[in-house]
Amino acid sequence: MILYPKAYYKNVKEITIEFLNKNNIKAIILDVDNTILDFDKNIPEGFIDWCENLKNHNIKFCIVSNTNKLKKVKYVAKEFDLPYFYFAKKPLKFGFKKAIKLLNEKPENIAAVGDQVFTDVVGANRCKMFPILVKPIKKKDIFITKLKRPLENHIIKSFLRKRNKEVK
Ligand SMILES: [Mg+2]
Repeated sequence: MILYPKAYYKNVKEITIEFLNKNNIKAIILDVDNTILDFDKNIPEGFIDWCENLKNHNIKFCIVSNTNKLKKVKYVAKEFDLPYFYFAKKPLKFGFKKAIKLLNEKPENIAAVGDQVFTDVVGANRCKMFPILVKPIKKKDIFITKLKRPLENHIIKSFLRKRNKEVK
């Protein structure tokens, strides 16, 4: 199902090396807005340490953001010390494809982490990557994103129902 992630977490810090190893994930593509940076341009506590820790376990990283605000993406990329692509127009494939090439791993060994179903999850599924959905850091969103949230919540609920059924 193109709308479903493979995993759903409260935030990126819940993504552990054990989980990545178990699923053969060797690299992570990170979204920016509401995934590692909040609406007020703050990076939540512990997020950079989480990234550093996984880097020390040889997990490769790259940022792919839809924003056209270069200054913002540059700032985040510098703080996390990561390569980046911006204005990616997810769910289109070209931004992800550039990142896949840079990471030099097979798409199925790359997790794409983001807070939006229609951009991050759909784009990752289209590229045959491993989509991980996280809750948006803050409730505040830009207007267009706000419009999509109720439908997203519906999809997340049906995904969780399906997963719970599988577990039983
Ligand atoms: Mg986002």
